[in-house]
Amino acid sequence: MNPRQRQALRRLERALPAGELRWDQATREQHARDKWFAERLPDAVALPRSTASVARLLAAAHAHRIPVTARGAGHGYVGGCVPVRGGVVLSLARMNRIREIHAGDFVAVVQAGVITQRLQAAVEARGLFYPPDPASRGDSTVGGNIVTNAGGPRCLKYGVTRDYLLGSEVVLADGTVLELGSRTHKNKTGFDLNRLFVGSEGLLGVVTEATLKLLPLPPERACLAVGLSSSADAARAIESIFAAGFLPCALEVADAFTLAAAQQRTGSRRLAGCQAHIIVEIDGQRESVRRELRLLERAVRRVPVRFVERGLGAAACEQLWQLRREFSYALRDTGLTKLNEDVAVPRSRLEDLFAFAARLQRRHGLQVACFGHAGDGNIHVNVMVDFTQPGARARSEAALDDLFRQVLAWGGVITGEHGVGLAKRRWWPQAVSPSVQALHRKLKRALDPRGILNPGKFV
Ligand SMILES: Cc1cc2nc3c(=O)[nH]c(=O)nc-3n(C[C@H](O)[C@H](O)[C@H](O)COP(=O)(O)OP(=O)(O)OC[C@H]3O[C@@H](n4cnc5c(N)ncnc54)[C@H](O)[C@@H]3O)c2cc1C
Repeated sequence: MNPRQRQALRRLERALPAGELRWDQATREQHARDKWFAERLPDAVALPRSTASVARLLAAAHAHRIPVTARGAGHGYVGGCVPVRGGVVLSLARMNRIREIHAGDFVAVVQAGVITQRLQAAVEARGLFYPPDPASRGDSTVGGNIVTNAGGPRCLKYGVTRDYLLGSEVVLADGTVLELGSRTHKNKTGFDLNRLFVGSEGLLGVVTEATLKLLPLPPERACLAVGLSSSADAARAIESIFAAGFLPCALEVADAFTLAAAQQRTGSRRLAGCQAHIIVEIDGQRESVRRELRLLERAVRRVPVRFVERGLGAAACEQLWQLRREFSYALRDTGLTKLNEDVAVPRSRLEDLFAFAARLQRRHGLQVACFGHAGDGNIHVNVMVDFTQPGARARSEAALDDLFRQVLAWGGVITGEHGVGLAKRRWWPQAVSPSVQALHRKLKRALDPRGILNPGKFV
């Protein structure tokens, strides 16, 4: 930041409520990175409590061309909130009020900094349901979820964050405050501008508030956890579930490497010899869930299985999900660095993806662990790297090049849920056509003509 820009921020600081702009080293360090591998110290950190403060900050930043990088909880996986050009990190963490939960309208109105799981607990206490369930929901914010269009296991049946955004308050780069959408569950008034900001990764505007759609909370849930002898059997079991007419709320798969690491961590004897594992969850009314669980098991058993575990009710289901939650930690226990890619492939390519991952290991001499959301083809392909080994970086990059090239050739995408950020910037030109890249640039210029919002990222 040059001296003129610094002076402008000092003037702004005096106009904002006390403590909303911080310059100290400790605060700047806390806002320099997310959960990926890049970092850069911002010059200052804004911690506004109101939309008015956000608007003031952006108007000043726009006038003086100061870079502003919005930040939710910093639990992104792609370096999205890293302020690569310095300037101000604009944290929404203190805008964390749940303004309203309306059982009659089935909506919640929240500020962007509300932690997703806190919202979920609050609505569930009222018999309501906010389904999007990224694994990071205990830490990530609703605003962060909106601009990364976050998803999770339940999105197979219920859809991703964008499907729940009815209305939003967004501050544009020049400080203009927009009210978009409505609190009705249907709305066709003009363009769907809410969705312009969904997945926009902080490049087009700052989301300060959201009106979210809620559903009735299903009274019952049930799960099956299934051990299998091969990933081909897992793919066939998944096909059999859909062929029987089920749309489970979650359908997760894990490969042999992941299971071996999980077995090491948990000491589970059941997993011995398993080469693949799936978890299927259904929900609905008590009587129908009981009956459907039996039918679901019958569909799964059309394929040879090593074991089937059943869970009926929230507590029993959580026990089965516990294993799934251990996967990330188990991979971390290997001591290798996990490059967690979140590709999505057309559903029929699941088995091909697992076979391709096995070939990647052989070709590049690296371990590859796959697990994730089988039902929607969104698989975490984790390239496991020992960066102390000579040539490891080059081999891991070559492996990722191969992976993304193949996924794109199948009609898949380089990111199903984490976003592009810094991590996938290298593959952006392959992932979208030149004309689509140009349209991104045109939209960016229209909304942020001075390029102050999250500069240095993929647009
Ligand atoms: C352990 C772990 C598990 C994860 N599991 C999942 C998963 O299952 N599914 C999934 O989809 N993702 C997952 N993620 C990725 C990540 O948690 C999500 O992308 C999440 O939505 C990030 O939210 P955040 O509040 O931490 O955002 P941040 O990391 O702070 O920011 C993410 C991006 O959004 C921008 N931004 C943040 N808030 C705003 C705002 N209010 N207005 C404008 N721009 C903003 C930032 O500039 C940045 O580009 C996981 C991450 C971790 C670390």
